[in-house]
Amino acid sequence: MTDNYKNLTVVENPIVNQSLCIIRSKHTDTQGVRLAARKLTRILLYEATKNLPQSEIEVETPLTTFRAKTITNNITIIISPILRAGLIFTDEAVDILPQATIRHIGMYRDEKTLKPVWYYNKVPMPVENPDNYYVYITDPMLATGNSLLEAIRLYVEKGIPQKNICGVCMISAPQGIERVFNEFPDIKLIVAAVDSHLNEKGYIVPGMGDAGDRIFNT
Ligand code: URA
Repeated sequence: MTDNYKNLTVVENPIVNQSLCIIRSKHTDTQGVRLAARKLTRILLYEATKNLPQSEIEVETPLTTFRAKTITNNITIIISPILRAGLIFTDEAVDILPQATIRHIGMYRDEKTLKPVWYYNKVPMPVENPDNYYVYITDPMLATGNSLLEAIRLYVEKGIPQKNICGVCMISAPQGIERVFNEFPDIKLIVAAVDSHLNEKGYIVPGMGDAGDRIFNT
């Protein structure tokens, strides 16, 4: 199924696979889950940010002056963690992209309807040149896709091109991927794994259980 979507990247490397095994195991304690998840989120963010535009600047080394590529500076980079589990991406994100703005999105999943319920939205900002915005929405689990879709809509409604919006997730389910691309075919999705299915409670199988509970020890 992963070949069906040109904008889906499943990041494959030994560190990713090792980190996935650690976070998935029910025998890993909270500290172990956090450490492995942070490692994983950093790798996913490296992959996701490959779409950032670059420009040449002049750099003076101790030996000479030369022109080198770097991230263009007149763009706005937004990291949008979907609370609460999406927060696990934030420390790594500000480490590697100190110029980024963090815009939190507060949604929890109603246990019965599996629909997202809003409780906090830090996105109502004015957007002047939407083409210059690059948005990374972070959520460890892409299950039904409901929360990610709500978050994407917020940015698309502001005129930000779909191709500049990226969902970054650790573990995903085929249903969620399909729903996101059905509505937004030009969005980018970066994931570490595509699992088998969702169970009747909307949990990803095999998954890692409740990501928020495992990361925050609740
Ligand atoms: N959210 C989680 O934390 N885990 C799942 O398996 C699905 C959604």
